[in-house]
Amino acid sequence: MTLALSLFDAGLGDVEIYESAGAIKELGVGINILPHAVRELSELGLLDRLASVAIPTGELVYYSKHGQRIWGEPRGLAAGYKWPQFSIHRGELIGILHRTILERLGPARVHTGHHLVGFGQDRDKAWAEFVDRATNTPVGRAEVDVLVACDGVHSTIRQLIYPNEGPPNWNGVTMWRAVTAGKPFLSGRTMVMAGHFGKRVVVYPISRSHEARGEALINWVAELKNAPDQPMPRQDWEYIAKREEVLALFSPYVFDFLDVPALIRSAEVIYKYPMVDRDALPTWNYGRVTLLGDAAHPMFPVGSNGASQAILDARVLARELALQPSLEEALMAYDAQRRPATAALVAANRQVGPEQCMELVEKRAPNGFQNLDEVISRAEMEEIARSYKRTASFDPEILNQRPSLSVR
Ligand SMILES: Cc1cc2nc3c(=O)[nH]c(=O)nc-3n(C[C@H](O)[C@H](O)[C@H](O)COP(=O)(O)OP(=O)(O)OC[C@H]3O[C@@H](n4cnc5c(N)ncnc54)[C@H](O)[C@@H]3O)c2cc1C
Repeated sequence: MTLALSLFDAGLGDVEIYESAGAIKELGVGINILPHAVRELSELGLLDRLASVAIPTGELVYYSKHGQRIWGEPRGLAAGYKWPQFSIHRGELIGILHRTILERLGPARVHTGHHLVGFGQDRDKAWAEFVDRATNTPVGRAEVDVLVACDGVHSTIRQLIYPNEGPPNWNGVTMWRAVTAGKPFLSGRTMVMAGHFGKRVVVYPISRSHEARGEALINWVAELKNAPDQPMPRQDWEYIAKREEVLALFSPYVFDFLDVPALIRSAEVIYKYPMVDRDALPTWNYGRVTLLGDAAHPMFPVGSNGASQAILDARVLARELALQPSLEEALMAYDAQRRPATAALVAANRQVGPEQCMELVEKRAPNGFQNLDEVISRAEMEEIARSYKRTASFDPEILNQRPSLSVR
C-alpha cells in the first residue's frame, strides 16, 4: 500500500493492488516505524494521521535478564531526528494506509480475494493470474507494465523466480506476541528490551487513546531459543499459542519497572511464530518483475526494521520508475540502491544488530553485576548503537540532511 501511495505521489497513478486475503482487516499486534520510514510516510502526507493514534517513542532501554539497566538512548524527536519514531498497532497502520488508498486512488484499485498463482511476460507487458484462495477458483488475470511482488516472506513470485530456494531459514527462536491493556511503565513512551538473545522480551506501548485515558496498550514479544530437537512452530501469523507455555518460561521476568508474567496473564490472545529470514539474492529483478519488502529481504526482527525497510523500498522504486528514462533502468537503479543496503541489514540482524550489548553483558556477567563499567564500557555500547544506525540508514545526522525521495 505504501508503494501504491508512493507511485501515485510520483505521478504514476495507474496502479492496481492485488491482495490474497478476502478483505483488508485491521489485525495484528504492535510495530515500530523508525524515523527513516516515518519521514517517508510524512512526505506522503500521513504524519498527522499516524500521530493521532501512535505513541511517539521517547527512549529505548536495554536491561539484563536480572532487570539491571545496561543501556538507554533517546529515540525519535528526543534523539534529534526531524521525524518521530512511532510505536503503533499494526491494524491501525494498515487502516491508515488503506483509507488513504481509498481516498486517493479509489476503491476500484484494491482487489481483495486475489491470490497470485502465476505470472508471465513478453517484450511489451507482464501478466499475473489470480485465484480466490477460499475456493481455489480463478478470479482473473491482470496485464501490467511492471509487476511488483510485495507478497511477504512466503512470496509466490520469488518462489517462481527462484524455485530451488526452499523455505526460510529458522534460527531456532520461537516468538510469542500479543498486546495487553495495562498501566503505563517507565516514561510511558519507553521501549524496553530485557534478557539476551535466546531469552528476551521486547515491550512497548502503542496506543495514544489508551495513553490519553492514563492507561497503556502494551505490545510485547517474548523470544526463546528452542532446544535443537524441538520442531519449528508453524509459519502462520494467526497460529495461537497456549498461555501456560510462555508463562512458565518467562515467570522469572518480574522487574520493579515491569511485570512480564502479568502481561502474559492478561493478554487476550497470544500468537506464536518462528524467527525466520532468507539469504540475500543476486538480483531482485526478473525482466518486468521485481521484489519488494519481505518478498525481497526478510530479516530477523531485530532493531525494528523489516517494515521500515519495505517503506524505503517503496519510495525508492516509485522515484526511479518516475525519473529513469526506461523501465529497465528504473528497476536496475532500484535494485542497485536497495538490495545491497538491505543485504547488509539481514547480515547485521543475524549478529543480533544493535542488541549486541545485551549479549556481551550476558556473556561477561551472567549472574549480574555491581558495576556495569567493569563489564562493558560506554564507548563500546555507543559504537554498537551508532554502527547499526548507519547500516540501517537512520543515523540522525545523515537522515536529517539527506535530500527527499519525493519526485514532486
Ligand atoms: C515479531 C516481529 C516483529 C516485527 N517488528 C517490526 C518492527 O517493529 N518494525 C518493523 O519495521 N518491522 C518489524 N517486523 C517486520 C515486518 O513485520 C515485516 O518486515 C513487514 O510486515 C513486511 O511487509 P511486507 O508488506 O513486505 O510483507 P507482509 O507484511 O508479509 O505482507 C504481505 C502481503 O501479501 C499478501 N500475499 C501473500 N501472498 C500473496 C499472493 N500469492 N497473492 C496476493 N497477495 C499475497 C499477504 O496476505 C499480505 O497482505 C517484525 C516482524 C516480526 C516477525
